[in-house]
Amino acid sequence: MIIPARIPVLIQRFFKERIWKIETNQRELFLTFDDGPHPRITSAVLDILKKHDAKATFFCIGDRVKRFPEIYKRILDEGHAVGNHTMHHINGWKSGLDEYCNDVEQAAKYIKSNMFRPPYGRMNRKQFDYVASKGMKTVMWTVLSGDYDYRLSPEKVYERVIRDMQQGNIYLFHDSEKAEVNMVFVLEKFIEYAKRHDYSFSSIKF
Ligand SMILES: [Zn+2]
Repeated sequence: MIIPARIPVLIQRFFKERIWKIETNQRELFLTFDDGPHPRITSAVLDILKKHDAKATFFCIGDRVKRFPEIYKRILDEGHAVGNHTMHHINGWKSGLDEYCNDVEQAAKYIKSNMFRPPYGRMNRKQFDYVASKGMKTVMWTVLSGDYDYRLSPEKVYERVIRDMQQGNIYLFHDSEKAEVNMVFVLEKFIEYAKRHDYSFSSIKF
């Protein structure tokens, strides 16, 4: 099944402590990139962002930050925000509480942030409460690009992200190998489309 680009409003209301959209009175959008850093792919993303003077938020995997500290440093040096995406990209629905908390805590040693995004968007109530007790906000997304889904063509991914653009929207992309072809095709076109409609791109800050 291809996951729809939009999370149903009922689900957003049910999980209302999670962030689904940023409240803002500016004409701004929020790009987010999960699962990096990746030396080649994150660099390509950073080049595109720099060219368009766009800021973004990178939800990084702790183990990858440990392996690729230079590219992680570049993210920070260029003024983007980072968030915790666990140490080993574990699935909350398949992990016990202790295992989950340890993985989040390990990642926090490498990623200094008050933002967290659960891998696969999956975490249970106790895991959520743990993350909140550590002072981190759980940031979800408004629009899922689907860039990682090989059944979606680049054109289809582009259609998903440009539809119903609204200020405060959080867009989920991936700086990962699985998503590379679609993401690289779509990202710059998406930014250009948004800029033509007078939007700018900011990183998420709490
Ligand atoms: Zn992920």
